[in-house]
Amino acid sequence: MPRDYYDILGVDSDASEKEIKKAYREKAMEYHPDRNPDDPEAEKKFKEASEAYEVLSDTEQRRRYDQYGHAGVNQNGGGGRGRGRGRGGFHDVEDIFSAFDEIFGGRGGRRGGGGRGRSSRQGGRPGSDLRVTLPLTLEEIAEGTEKELKIRKYVECETCDGTGAEGGMSGNNYAMCPKCDGTGELRQVSRSVFGQFVNVQACPRCDGDGRIIEDACGDCGGDGRVERDETISVNVPAGVMEGNYLTLSGGGNAGTRGGPAGDLRIEIEEKPHDDFVRDGLDIYHDVYLSIPEAALGTEVEVPTLDGRARLEIDPGVQGGKILRMRDRGIPDLEGAGRGDQMNRIHVWTPSTLTDEEEEMMRELRGRENFQPQPSEPNTEKSFFERVSDVFS
Ligand SMILES: [Zn+2]
Ligand SMILES: [Zn+2]
Repeated sequence: MPRDYYDILGVDSDASEKEIKKAYREKAMEYHPDRNPDDPEAEKKFKEASEAYEVLSDTEQRRRYDQYGHAGVNQNGGGGRGRGRGRGGFHDVEDIFSAFDEIFGGRGGRRGGGGRGRSSRQGGRPGSDLRVTLPLTLEEIAEGTEKELKIRKYVECETCDGTGAEGGMSGNNYAMCPKCDGTGELRQVSRSVFGQFVNVQACPRCDGDGRIIEDACGDCGGDGRVERDETISVNVPAGVMEGNYLTLSGGGNAGTRGGPAGDLRIEIEEKPHDDFVRDGLDIYHDVYLSIPEAALGTEVEVPTLDGRARLEIDPGVQGGKILRMRDRGIPDLEGAGRGDQMNRIHVWTPSTLTDEEEEMMRELRGRENFQPQPSEPNTEKSFFERVSDVFS
């Protein structure tokens, strides 16, 4: 049987929000794992107190608890905040610390732990993420390349070290924000049939900092950041493909007044190529032959990703046949080999004929060798059969 939440915090059942908060603060201070290393008993008490506070500090949860006891709050009874309280709540250490940070504004307990949440006294809002596309040719993709990207973004104002205040770090240009009395947040209480709700918002006047700048930096107007074109160079490894992206942590917009910068996400875009269509690591190229060339055999010049190459074509080649050039495709991003260049043969049929040509065609039409013999290798064969009988 779980202990009564009010007993755990040592408050009366009609305790005010303030009293509950104060009681939890005391318990949390006393039993916090940072102060009681390797003490399972203290850890248990800390968890208990956190769980009790979690419920009693939430108007709706508290109402349910008062009415139904643990059954009202432990059984996923709707309206929960999805913290997986169903099996007795706080299993996850992160959870505990996030509750702890909520109440102490991140000052009392352990700091950091990732997250770009506002960190109490630092002030400023985090910068937004940026996304840019980086168009590359197939040649660049095959080789790997280094690219310069010009990005317009917010960067920290150098004049004021990003503080937004004249004189920067060394100056003392702050005053308590009059709108929120230095707390950095605005509370709005609303009542409904379900009870009382408290809505807490970052103070818009001071951006949640609690302080305002008396003498704003002239270069950034107190924002702590300025917009500027920045050129960054990106190393692109060989073998990337459309949709791949690279994230530069902290490469996005600077935050206001020292807030953390967002990330920069660079997305690869493949430029269409005049000669090739990519399929995974392979590239396809269309080769057009005249009827006599196909019948007599020939040698053609084909483009590759690395200059031009000669391709020998046997007499009697069929349209649809694929002549493979090994290792002329795209290298695997992880270094596992390289794709091929597939040269797909098309036999070009003339669409207009002179009287003389028409005469020749009529003559050829009746010849035995010109009768189609589809058992010969041809487009009807499966892809794998076709690639097996190509030459390099
Ligand atoms: Zn400035
Ligand atoms: Zn304020």
